[in-house]
Amino acid sequence: MTQQRPAFPLKLDSVSGNKPKAKPMAEARPAIKAMPASTRGQGHSLDKSQGQGIGMDSVAVRARMVQKLAQGGIQDAAVLQAMGTVERHRFVETALVNQAYEDTSLPIGLGQTISKPNVVARMIELLRHGATGKLGRVLEVGTGCGYQAAVLSHIAIEVYSIERLKGLHEKARENLRAFRLHNVHLLFGDGMEGFAKGAPYAAIIAAAGGNNIPQPWLDQLAVGGRLVAPMVTPAGHQALVVVDKTAQGFQHQVLEAVHFVPLKSGIS
Ligand code: SAH
Repeated sequence: MTQQRPAFPLKLDSVSGNKPKAKPMAEARPAIKAMPASTRGQGHSLDKSQGQGIGMDSVAVRARMVQKLAQGGIQDAAVLQAMGTVERHRFVETALVNQAYEDTSLPIGLGQTISKPNVVARMIELLRHGATGKLGRVLEVGTGCGYQAAVLSHIAIEVYSIERLKGLHEKARENLRAFRLHNVHLLFGDGMEGFAKGAPYAAIIAAAGGNNIPQPWLDQLAVGGRLVAPMVTPAGHQALVVVDKTAQGFQHQVLEAVHFVPLKSGIS
Protein backbone atom coordinates (compact mmCIF):
# COMPACT_ATOMS: atom_id res chain seq x y z
CA MET A 1 0.00 0.00 0.00
CA THR A 2 1.43 3.37 -0.91
CA GLN A 3 0.95 6.26 1.42
CA GLN A 4 1.37 9.84 0.59
CA ARG A 5 3.64 11.50 3.13
CA PRO A 6 2.82 15.02 4.19
CA ALA A 7 5.44 17.70 4.06
CA PHE A 8 6.50 18.40 7.61
CA PRO A 9 6.77 20.82 9.26
CA LEU A 10 3.15 21.27 8.37
CA LYS A 11 2.38 24.19 6.16
CA LEU A 12 0.04 26.33 8.15
CA ASP A 13 -1.27 28.23 5.17
CA SER A 14 -2.67 25.00 3.79
CA VAL A 15 -4.90 24.26 6.72
CA SER A 16 -7.69 22.01 5.66
CA GLY A 17 -10.91 22.43 7.48
CA ASN A 18 -12.25 19.33 5.78
CA LYS A 19 -13.80 16.73 7.92
CA PRO A 20 -11.67 13.61 7.75
CA LYS A 21 -13.44 10.81 5.92
CA ALA A 22 -11.72 7.96 7.69
CA LYS A 23 -13.00 6.77 11.03
CA PRO A 24 -10.44 6.21 13.78
CA MET A 25 -9.41 2.66 14.44
CA ALA A 26 -12.03 1.76 16.96
CA GLU A 27 -12.87 -1.64 18.24
CA ALA A 28 -16.40 -2.77 18.77
CA ARG A 29 -16.67 -2.48 22.50
CA PRO A 30 -19.56 -1.33 24.62
CA ALA A 31 -19.42 2.28 25.72
CA ILE A 32 -17.87 2.89 29.11
CA LYS A 33 -20.26 1.93 31.86
CA ALA A 34 -21.31 4.37 34.50
CA MET A 35 -19.23 4.16 37.65
CA PRO A 36 -21.00 1.75 40.00
CA ALA A 37 -22.33 3.39 43.13
CA SER A 38 -20.30 0.97 45.22
CA THR A 39 -17.02 2.52 44.05
CA ARG A 40 -18.09 6.11 44.52
CA GLY A 41 -16.77 6.44 47.99
CA GLN A 42 -13.24 5.56 47.01
CA GLY A 43 -12.04 9.09 46.71
CA HIS A 44 -13.06 9.94 50.24
CA SER A 45 -10.38 8.13 52.15
CA LEU A 46 -7.44 9.38 50.12
CA ASP A 47 -4.54 10.78 52.09
CA LYS A 48 -4.20 13.74 49.77
CA SER A 49 -7.84 14.70 50.15
CA GLN A 50 -7.88 14.62 53.91
CA GLY A 51 -7.72 17.93 55.66
CA GLN A 52 -6.78 19.65 52.45
CA GLY A 53 -9.98 21.56 51.93
CA ILE A 54 -11.11 19.45 49.01
CA GLY A 55 -13.95 18.36 51.22
CA MET A 56 -15.00 14.83 51.93
CA ASP A 57 -16.56 14.32 48.55
CA SER A 58 -14.18 14.53 45.65
CA VAL A 59 -16.84 12.83 43.51
CA ALA A 60 -19.05 15.91 43.78
CA VAL A 61 -16.12 18.22 43.01
CA ARG A 62 -15.30 16.16 39.93
CA ALA A 63 -18.94 16.15 38.89
CA ARG A 64 -18.85 19.97 38.97
CA MET A 65 -15.68 19.93 36.89
CA VAL A 66 -17.39 17.65 34.37
CA GLN A 67 -20.40 19.93 34.27
CA LYS A 68 -18.11 22.85 33.44
CA LEU A 69 -16.35 20.80 30.77
CA ALA A 70 -19.72 20.05 29.19
CA GLN A 71 -20.73 23.72 29.40
CA GLY A 72 -17.42 24.57 27.78
CA GLY A 73 -18.26 22.42 24.77
CA ILE A 74 -17.02 18.89 25.51
CA GLN A 75 -19.77 16.62 24.20
CA ASP A 76 -18.30 13.13 24.10
CA ALA A 77 -19.95 11.15 26.90
CA ALA A 78 -17.04 8.70 27.15
CA VAL A 79 -14.61 11.59 27.68
CA LEU A 80 -16.82 13.22 30.30
CA GLN A 81 -17.21 9.86 32.02
CA ALA A 82 -13.45 9.30 32.10
CA MET A 83 -12.79 12.84 33.37
CA GLY A 84 -15.37 12.27 36.09
CA THR A 85 -13.76 9.02 37.13
CA VAL A 86 -10.06 9.84 37.45
CA GLU A 87 -9.11 11.48 40.73
CA ARG A 88 -6.98 14.37 39.55
CA HIS A 89 -6.14 15.40 43.10
CA ARG A 90 -4.10 12.23 43.49
CA PHE A 91 -1.65 13.47 40.86
CA VAL A 92 -0.78 16.89 42.27
CA GLU A 93 1.36 18.00 45.20
CA THR A 94 -0.43 18.11 48.54
CA ALA A 95 -0.19 21.90 48.61
CA LEU A 96 -2.06 22.12 45.29
CA VAL A 97 -4.85 19.67 46.07
CA ASN A 98 -7.34 22.52 46.51
CA GLN A 99 -6.81 23.51 42.89
CA ALA A 100 -6.91 19.99 41.48
CA TYR A 101 -10.39 20.38 39.95
CA GLU A 102 -10.05 23.96 38.79
CA ASP A 103 -9.52 24.58 35.13
CA THR A 104 -5.88 25.38 35.51
CA SER A 105 -2.57 23.81 34.64
CA LEU A 106 -0.46 22.90 37.68
CA PRO A 107 3.25 22.27 38.26
CA ILE A 108 4.22 18.61 38.60
CA GLY A 109 7.94 19.04 39.27
CA LEU A 110 11.08 19.27 37.13
CA GLY A 111 9.67 22.37 35.43
CA GLN A 112 6.76 20.48 33.85
CA THR A 113 3.00 20.98 34.16
CA ILE A 114 -0.19 18.95 34.12
CA SER A 115 -2.56 20.38 31.50
CA LYS A 116 -5.86 22.07 32.31
CA PRO A 117 -8.77 19.62 32.48
CA ASN A 118 -10.45 21.26 29.49
CA VAL A 119 -7.34 20.83 27.35
CA VAL A 120 -7.03 17.15 28.37
CA ALA A 121 -10.71 16.59 27.61
CA ARG A 122 -10.58 18.52 24.33
CA MET A 123 -7.57 16.56 23.07
CA ILE A 124 -9.06 13.21 24.01
CA GLU A 125 -12.35 14.17 22.39
CA LEU A 126 -10.45 15.01 19.22
CA LEU A 127 -8.58 11.72 19.49
CA ARG A 128 -11.82 9.75 19.68
CA HIS A 129 -13.64 11.88 17.12
CA GLY A 130 -16.91 10.16 17.60
CA ALA A 131 -15.70 6.57 18.01
CA THR A 132 -18.49 4.42 19.36
CA GLY A 133 -16.30 2.06 21.36
CA LYS A 134 -12.87 2.19 22.90
CA LEU A 135 -9.84 3.07 20.82
CA GLY A 136 -7.31 0.27 20.35
CA ARG A 137 -3.70 1.03 21.27
CA VAL A 138 -2.91 4.63 22.14
CA LEU A 139 0.55 6.20 22.48
CA GLU A 140 0.95 9.18 24.79
CA VAL A 141 4.17 11.20 24.54
CA GLY A 142 4.90 12.95 27.83
CA THR A 143 3.59 10.91 30.76
CA GLY A 144 4.34 13.67 33.25
CA CYS A 145 2.52 12.82 36.47
CA GLY A 146 0.44 10.12 34.78
CA TYR A 147 -2.94 11.88 34.98
CA GLN A 148 -3.74 11.91 31.29
CA ALA A 149 -2.56 8.30 30.96
CA ALA A 150 -5.13 7.40 33.62
CA VAL A 151 -7.87 9.23 31.71
CA LEU A 152 -6.78 7.52 28.49
CA SER A 153 -6.98 4.12 30.17
CA HIS A 154 -10.76 4.53 30.24
CA ILE A 155 -11.14 5.24 26.54
CA ALA A 156 -8.49 2.93 25.07
CA ILE A 157 -7.81 -0.77 25.21
CA GLU A 158 -4.06 -0.30 25.74
CA VAL A 159 -2.15 2.87 26.63
CA TYR A 160 1.59 3.22 26.05
CA SER A 161 2.89 6.35 27.72
CA ILE A 162 6.47 7.50 27.37
CA GLU A 163 8.39 10.07 29.42
CA ARG A 164 11.94 11.38 28.93
CA LEU A 165 12.54 12.53 32.52
CA LYS A 166 13.34 9.64 34.83
CA GLY A 167 12.06 11.54 37.88
CA LEU A 168 8.61 12.02 36.34
CA HIS A 169 8.48 8.51 34.90
CA GLU A 170 8.98 7.20 38.43
CA LYS A 171 6.51 9.68 39.90
CA ALA A 172 3.86 8.57 37.42
CA ARG A 173 4.53 4.94 38.29
CA GLU A 174 4.01 5.77 41.95
CA ASN A 175 0.90 7.86 41.29
CA LEU A 176 -0.70 5.19 39.13
CA ARG A 177 0.12 2.21 41.33
CA ALA A 178 -3.02 2.48 43.46
CA PHE A 179 -5.26 2.72 40.40
CA ARG A 180 -4.14 -0.72 39.17
CA LEU A 181 -4.69 0.21 35.57
CA HIS A 182 -3.47 -2.94 33.88
CA ASN A 183 -3.83 -1.48 30.42
CA VAL A 184 -1.36 1.41 31.05
CA HIS A 185 2.26 0.71 30.11
CA LEU A 186 4.72 3.34 31.33
CA LEU A 187 7.92 3.68 29.33
CA PHE A 188 11.07 5.66 29.99
CA GLY A 189 12.64 7.03 26.81
CA ASP A 190 12.63 9.68 24.13
CA GLY A 191 9.09 9.88 22.86
CA MET A 192 10.23 11.69 19.72
CA GLU A 193 11.12 8.19 18.53
CA GLY A 194 7.64 6.97 19.41
CA PHE A 195 7.51 3.39 20.65
CA ALA A 196 7.79 1.06 17.69
CA LYS A 197 7.06 -2.11 19.64
CA GLY A 198 3.50 -1.00 20.35
CA ALA A 199 2.80 0.21 16.80
CA PRO A 200 0.60 0.63 14.91
CA TYR A 201 -1.42 2.94 17.14
CA ALA A 202 -5.06 3.83 16.74
CA ALA A 203 -4.18 7.20 18.23
CA ILE A 204 -1.15 9.21 19.31
CA ILE A 205 -1.39 12.14 21.72
CA ALA A 206 1.47 14.42 22.71
CA ALA A 207 1.61 16.54 25.85
CA ALA A 208 4.63 18.55 24.71
CA GLY A 209 5.06 20.64 21.58
CA GLY A 210 7.91 20.87 19.09
CA ASN A 211 8.42 22.67 15.79
CA ASN A 212 7.14 19.77 13.76
CA ILE A 213 5.58 16.34 14.07
CA PRO A 214 8.32 13.70 14.42
CA GLN A 215 8.34 11.25 11.53
CA PRO A 216 8.23 8.13 13.80
CA TRP A 217 4.81 9.25 15.07
CA LEU A 218 3.47 9.34 11.53
CA ASP A 219 5.06 5.98 10.75
CA GLN A 220 3.68 4.37 13.89
CA LEU A 221 0.13 5.66 13.42
CA ALA A 222 -2.27 3.03 12.02
CA VAL A 223 -4.12 3.73 8.80
CA GLY A 224 -7.42 5.12 10.06
CA GLY A 225 -5.62 6.46 13.13
CA ARG A 226 -5.41 10.00 14.42
CA LEU A 227 -2.66 12.05 16.05
CA VAL A 228 -3.31 15.09 18.25
CA ALA A 229 -0.36 17.22 19.31
CA PRO A 230 0.65 20.78 20.10
CA MET A 231 3.05 22.24 17.55
CA VAL A 232 4.85 25.57 17.28
CA THR A 233 3.58 27.51 14.28
CA PRO A 234 5.84 29.67 12.09
CA ALA A 235 4.33 32.66 13.88
CA GLY A 236 6.00 31.32 17.01
CA HIS A 237 2.97 30.27 19.01
CA GLN A 238 1.72 26.78 19.70
CA ALA A 239 -1.45 25.37 18.20
CA LEU A 240 -3.17 22.01 18.39
CA VAL A 241 -2.58 19.93 15.29
CA VAL A 242 -4.68 16.97 14.23
CA VAL A 243 -3.29 14.49 11.69
CA ASP A 244 -5.39 11.69 10.23
CA LYS A 245 -3.66 8.82 8.47
CA THR A 246 -5.90 7.49 5.74
CA ALA A 247 -5.36 4.92 3.00
CA GLN A 248 -5.00 7.90 0.64
CA GLY A 249 -2.41 9.71 2.75
CA PHE A 250 -2.32 12.21 5.62
CA GLN A 251 -4.82 14.97 6.30
CA HIS A 252 -4.07 17.67 8.79
CA GLN A 253 -5.88 20.43 10.60
CA VAL A 254 -4.46 23.22 12.75
CA LEU A 255 -6.80 24.23 15.55
CA GLU A 256 -6.73 26.59 18.52
CA ALA A 257 -3.70 28.08 20.26
CA VAL A 258 -2.38 26.14 23.27
CA HIS A 259 0.48 26.41 25.78
CA PHE A 260 2.40 23.20 26.34
CA VAL A 261 5.89 22.57 27.63
CA PRO A 262 8.46 22.01 24.88
CA LEU A 263 9.05 18.63 23.29
CA LYS A 264 12.70 17.81 23.88
CA SER A 265 14.91 15.07 22.52
CA GLY A 266 16.95 12.62 24.57
CA ILE A 267 16.42 11.42 28.12
CA SER A 268 17.45 12.96 31.41
N1 SAH B 1 0.28 14.20 30.22
C1 SAH B 1 1.01 14.76 31.30
C2 SAH B 1 1.51 16.15 31.00
C3 SAH B 1 2.96 16.27 31.26
S1 SAH B 1 3.74 17.70 30.67
C4 SAH B 1 0.23 14.70 32.60
O1 SAH B 1 -0.94 14.30 32.59
O2 SAH B 1 0.81 15.00 33.64
C5 SAH B 1 4.59 17.06 29.27
C6 SAH B 1 5.64 16.04 29.53
O3 SAH B 1 6.27 15.75 28.29
C7 SAH B 1 6.76 16.46 30.48
O4 SAH B 1 6.80 15.60 31.56
C8 SAH B 1 8.03 16.36 29.63
O5 SAH B 1 9.15 15.88 30.35
C9 SAH B 1 7.59 15.35 28.59
N2 SAH B 1 8.37 15.32 27.35
C10 SAH B 1 8.89 16.35 26.64
N3 SAH B 1 9.56 15.88 25.57
C11 SAH B 1 9.46 14.52 25.61
C12 SAH B 1 9.95 13.45 24.79
N4 SAH B 1 10.70 13.68 23.70
N5 SAH B 1 9.63 12.19 25.13
C13 SAH B 1 8.89 11.92 26.23
N6 SAH B 1 8.40 12.87 27.05
C14 SAH B 1 8.69 14.16 26.74
